[in-house]
Amino acid sequence: MLKPNMHYGDLKESYLFAHIARKTGLFLEKNPDKHLYRMGIGDVSLPLGRSVIEALHEAVNDQSQKSSFHGYMPECGDPDLRKILASYYRKRGVDLLEEEVFVSSGASDELGDILDLFDQESSALVIEPAYPAYVDANVIAGRKIIHLASGKENGFLPEPADDQEGDIIYLCSPNNPTGAVFDHAKLKAWVDYANKNGAVILFDAAYEAFIEDPALPHSIFEVEGAKTCAIEICSLSKTAGFTGTRLGYTVIPKALNRQGMNLHDMWVRNRTTKTNGVSYIIQKGAAAVFTEEGQRQIRENISIYKENARHLMETLDQLGIWYCGGKNSPYIWMECPDNMGSWDFFDILLEKAQIVGTPGEGFGSCGEGYFRFSTFGSPEDTKEAAKRLKELLE
Ligand code: PLP
Repeated sequence: MLKPNMHYGDLKESYLFAHIARKTGLFLEKNPDKHLYRMGIGDVSLPLGRSVIEALHEAVNDQSQKSSFHGYMPECGDPDLRKILASYYRKRGVDLLEEEVFVSSGASDELGDILDLFDQESSALVIEPAYPAYVDANVIAGRKIIHLASGKENGFLPEPADDQEGDIIYLCSPNNPTGAVFDHAKLKAWVDYANKNGAVILFDAAYEAFIEDPALPHSIFEVEGAKTCAIEICSLSKTAGFTGTRLGYTVIPKALNRQGMNLHDMWVRNRTTKTNGVSYIIQKGAAAVFTEEGQRQIRENISIYKENARHLMETLDQLGIWYCGGKNSPYIWMECPDNMGSWDFFDILLEKAQIVGTPGEGFGSCGEGYFRFSTFGSPEDTKEAAKRLKELLE
C-alpha cells in the first residue's frame, strides 16, 4: 500500500501572511474608506527594465522562425548566460569556471531542490529569524533541524558556537527578514567551521544587489576557503524585478567534495535528470540584465527602493528606535516600542496609522518583539507611512 511522505504532517501551518491578510481584510470591511500603507510585501513593485523587455521580445520573435528557433535548452543553463554570470562574479574578484554556475528558475526552486544532494540523516542548521522555506523544506525531507537563535546582542549575525552542530548550514546575507549583512570576518568563521566539520553552507544571496557598503561581501566566494564548503544560491527576482519572470543561478564549485563524492558533478547529474533547462526566452531576458544599459536600469529601480529605505531609517533615527537593515538591504528590522509584542504592534499600526508591516514573530520565536518593514512599496505610500509612524510614536 502506498505510504505518502508523512513528514508533511509535521509542517507547522504557515499562518503569517494568511493571518495578516485576515486582519487587514477585517479592518477594511469595518473601514472601507481607509487606504492601507502596505510595508509588508516581499514582492517588487517596479517593472522590468527596458533592455530586458526588448531582449524578451526579440527572443519571442526568434521562436517564430525556423532559423532562430530553440527547443530544449541545456539542463544546466545556456552556455552564453553561464559565461555572463561567471564574468559578473569576476568583476568582484571571484574566479569561477562557467560550468560552476548553474542557471535556475529562481532561488526558491533551488533552495528546495538542492537538498537532493544531502542524505536525510544530515542535520540542517537554520539561523533564526529566518526565511520560512529553509525550515519547511527540511521538515518535508524529514531532517533534524537545529534552530540557532540570533538577536540584537550579535546584530542578528551569530557566529558558530564552540559546540556547534549542523551539517547543512543556511546563511542568508543580506538577510530576510533582519536586513543584517555578514562581513568577511563573520563569514570566515562559518567557512572555517564548515571546512573543519565537513559541513556545507547554503549561502542565500538573493539580496546581494542591495549592498552599498564596499567593504561587505556580496558572495561567500569572496571569502577564502569557501570553494571547499559552500554553495551559493542567487536570483534576479529582487535584483532585476524577475519575481514573476523567474530566473536564478546557483554556484557549486568543482572543489566541493564530501566523503568521496563531488557535489558539482552530482548537481550536473541531478539537473540532467530532473530538468529540461530554463526557457530560452527568459534566459535571453536575463542576459540583458548584465549589459551596461541593463545594469544602469536595474540600479535605477534599486535606488527607488533605497530612497524608500532612507525615509524609514530617517524616521526611526529621529524616534531613537533600534533597527538593523535598510542601508544594505531592502528590509528594515525594528525593535517594537515599549517592549510590545510584534502582533500587538501590528494591530496598533493598522488601527491607528493604517500601516501594514510584518510581525517578527512570524520568522521564528526569537523574532518576537521585532517588526519588519519592506521597502519594495510605492515611494508615495512609503513616505506617508514614515510620516504616520513618526506622528504615532513621537
Ligand atoms: N531567498 C530569500 C531570502 C527570499 O527572501 C526569497 C524571496 O522572497 C527567495 C529566496 C526566493 O527568491 P526567488 O523569487 O528567486 O524564488
